Amino acid sequence: MESVIHDAEDIVDPKAAQAAVSTGRLPSDEAVRAALSRVHRRFRDDRGGKVADYIPVLAEADPELFGIALAHVGGSLHAVGDAEHLFSIQSVSKAFVFALVDQELGHHTVRRRIGVNSTGLPFDSVLAVELNHGSPMNPMVNAGALATAALAPGDSPEERWEFVRRGLSRFAGRELRLDQRVYASEAATNQRNESIARLLDSYGVLARDPATTTDLYTRQCSLAVCVRDLAVMGATLANGGVNPLTGDRVVSPGVCRDTLAALATSGLYERSGDWLYEVGMPGKSGVSGGIVTVAPGKGSIAAFSPRLDPAGNSVRGQRVTHYLSGALGLDLFASTPHPGSGG
Ligand code: GLN
Repeated sequence: MESVIHDAEDIVDPKAAQAAVSTGRLPSDEAVRAALSRVHRRFRDDRGGKVADYIPVLAEADPELFGIALAHVGGSLHAVGDAEHLFSIQSVSKAFVFALVDQELGHHTVRRRIGVNSTGLPFDSVLAVELNHGSPMNPMVNAGALATAALAPGDSPEERWEFVRRGLSRFAGRELRLDQRVYASEAATNQRNESIARLLDSYGVLARDPATTTDLYTRQCSLAVCVRDLAVMGATLANGGVNPLTGDRVVSPGVCRDTLAALATSGLYERSGDWLYEVGMPGKSGVSGGIVTVAPGKGSIAAFSPRLDPAGNSVRGQRVTHYLSGALGLDLFASTPHPGSGG
């Protein structure tokens, strides 16, 4: 269904919209460091959740791994715990590949071809595609991520993979590499994603053939990152598209807000409402245990802990982010009365 807001787009003054940005600052570096140590200590012994095992290699992850990083838009980076441990980015990649494709195709085209409404169903739902008459629905579930990957520019699979790999590397500020073991394990057990791609193709909504699209999506999920990388990637989205460590302009400010809006509705799948209600910021999770959360104009929190809730979201990652959102004043929906307004 077309959005009625889309029809009214010409009433928005683009200059005024550019000026309307999230304001406020992160607390001092010392306060951030103290909060990270506190929250790491607080949840170190929390063993809630279960490591993902539907992709065989993911079941081998050490469940005790636990890292947190926070990147500030001013360029400082703080980390505690297993902050250098490499893991596959999995679904967290969806946010950044969407941003790269939005940058290429634009706000209206990505909305029309992928969608931005939540499904209320699990990330790998086939039923969601059927219930929505072949719409991929949003870029953060597998159907939408496959539709997004199919829109990556390039004349060959290699060029399209390089577009994704290089783009995500620019977000991270370093060259990211494929984890070959994860890729091989996932490619060998990928029947469900292949089916979703074929189903989308049967509705005529996939821009490329299902097999190469699924392969590109599987590769993007198999890129190796550490929790520091995720924090820098998120901070680039918090910083109008400029990587705060390298100064590289990766995407436009408009693409950042599009991406964060899409994350707010569906970054944690069917738990996105609970997440927004508790944490008050857009976030994206992945089944290897990473979660990246973005405070626009301020910075980004990334957490890594492989034990997941039943929806596939890191349990400790959610608890840590909830704590930090409150402790550092990051909830986008929180306000206090204006001093002159009484009360
Ligand atoms: N590669 C995984 C899959 O497609 C990613 C899922 C996730 O992280 N939620 O199943």
